Amino acid sequence: MNPVRKTTRLFQQYHLLEDLLGVAVTIKQCRMESFDDWMVVDVKEALQNNDQSLAAENIQRYFDGCNNTPLNIAITGESGAGKSTFVNAFRSIDNKDERAAPTGVVETTIELTSYPHPNYPSVTLWDLPGIGTTSFPADKYLEHVGFEKFDFFIIISDTRFRENDVKLAQEIQKMGKKFYFVRSKIDNDVRSVKRSQREFNEETTLAQIREYCIKGLQKQGFESPQVFLVSSFDLHLYDFYLLEENLERELPAHKRDVLLLSLPNVSLEIINKKKEALQAKIKYYATLSAVVGAVPVPGMSSAVDIGMIVGVVTQYKVVFGLDIPSLERLAQTTGVPLDDLRAVMISPLAAKKITADLVMKLLSQCITTASLMAVEEWSRFIPIFGIPAAMCISFACTYKILNTFLNMLAIDAQRVFTKALGLDTAV
Ligand code: GDP
Repeated sequence: MNPVRKTTRLFQQYHLLEDLLGVAVTIKQCRMESFDDWMVVDVKEALQNNDQSLAAENIQRYFDGCNNTPLNIAITGESGAGKSTFVNAFRSIDNKDERAAPTGVVETTIELTSYPHPNYPSVTLWDLPGIGTTSFPADKYLEHVGFEKFDFFIIISDTRFRENDVKLAQEIQKMGKKFYFVRSKIDNDVRSVKRSQREFNEETTLAQIREYCIKGLQKQGFESPQVFLVSSFDLHLYDFYLLEENLERELPAHKRDVLLLSLPNVSLEIINKKKEALQAKIKYYATLSAVVGAVPVPGMSSAVDIGMIVGVVTQYKVVFGLDIPSLERLAQTTGVPLDDLRAVMISPLAAKKITADLVMKLLSQCITTASLMAVEEWSRFIPIFGIPAAMCISFACTYKILNTFLNMLAIDAQRVFTKALGLDTAV
């Protein structure tokens, strides 16, 4: 068959590439969402002007922006309320880990201390001294801790919320910042009620605790406060998922993904949301691969940019907590042996360092991708048609490969999560 017709047939298999200028078209069809808007517009413009290197530069700038977006979370509450334990749980770090915020029943948090997320250095949790442990009134306290830098505040209490908590919340509100009341150590409450009541019902117990906290806050002037019941030892139980949903809803769009990707895998739903957030970015990687493929950059002009795939897949593993340090931390916090966690992973990417060789090996096993890569090589020799054809194939290859790898790793993440919690559900 004539090579041009062969290539055209291949394109028809990919509905993403209905148009020969599929890259530009796909970008045109991308859903415009706040933070991504400028990038989509800039890239489209660069492609329309046939300036692929500018398009590549814009996409790269977008990814750099995503990775460096700061998220500062302030955790405050009286001494012993469970701030440090929450900080550690949020970062999936065991209290005994050397990077853990020190915890204990004695007063351990008297200074403002920052704890960077182990996988996302731009995400920082701040363990703030309880307002009662300082001599400042609420407004001066906020000045003292430098409230401007915080994206939101979490006010923790292990009993009812006190006057200080309320004053602080009111002052935070005045400063135009968000706050969330977290009632901690719920596992303790549930356990002790269970021991003392003959007809124990967990839902009723939780509703009573919530009601008690809300009534207390209402008495102090809050009309409709929301209180999240949390156990830092069991973030997958109680209201942590509700807290996460509220944060996600109320954060500006460009911070939402940063929060989501840095969260511990506390539910199958979070794993799924992470997957969707990562999936939404694949079209940009594919475009990057396409435009870089069409530019004569030494060492980068192939059907897929293997270096980029290695980097992206390595990031996927970290996001899903499937890299070895994250698995070790999970083993430490759950008590499930590392080998048992590793044993449930089924993808060929699992528990291995992602290298160019490994990626190439997996790609060569995938017939569609391998044939597309081969076609890409000779499509460059087709006069006029060559460059857009190569771009389209690069886009299609990268798009397919990243989606395939992402799906594999998401399944592994679900399996590890299920194993870590001792759930039997087969994923
Ligand atoms: P901080 O002073 O506010 O930082 O409080 P810590 O995080 O040091 O916690 C004080 C004590 O409460 C420690 O012994 C923790 O182990 C314990 N603690 C904290 N959070 C929880 C929780 O969710 N459940 C239970 N059962 N204990 C907790």
